[in-house]
Amino acid sequence: MRYYILNIFLIIAGMAELVDARDSKSRDGDIMSVRVRFPVPKNRNKGSTMTVSDCVFCKIIARKLPAEIVAETDDVIVIKDIYPKAPIHYLIIPKKHITDLRSLEQADMSVVGKILLMVKKIAEQLSGSKAFRLISNNGLDVGQTVFHLHFHFLSGKKMLDF
Ligand code: AMP
Ligand code: ZN
Repeated sequence: MRYYILNIFLIIAGMAELVDARDSKSRDGDIMSVRVRFPVPKNRNKGSTMTVSDCVFCKIIARKLPAEIVAETDDVIVIKDIYPKAPIHYLIIPKKHITDLRSLEQADMSVVGKILLMVKKIAEQLSGSKAFRLISNNGLDVGQTVFHLHFHFLSGKKMLDF
């Protein structure tokens, strides 16, 4: 009975959806059984619906948010990551709002080439071992947090953990 009251409270509070309600017998007599489901939070898949107006990288590109700009062309911008995970941690970002590699279109092929040429240019400017790692997270489940295509350029320390 206690669970029944709790479930009714969750439904009224909008925290759960009613899946099934029925009378069922138990050893102690008749009890009311209510099954509820907790819905996926509304912004769980925000990434796929993120628009230019709420995209942090679009805001940086439009100079509506500050960032440390390392390089810039007509199509690509390179900024320092705000939470660096290596002594050198740049983000190489196409100026066009593309959600991730899965949403690339044929028309985006030239910008992909320009991103890679930018990677080469930045790599040439490295001192020391000149080794670097390039990472792109594609999707919530692998840690993408900004849903505007970008490549992490990491260097300046040994990274033998992959
Ligand atoms: P990801 O988690 O692969 O989507 O990478 C997003 C990256 O953007 C993270 O490493 C963040 O630290 C970085 N980031 C988020 N906001 C900013 C910002 N305003 N300026 C620079 N880097 C940012
Ligand atoms: Zn964007």
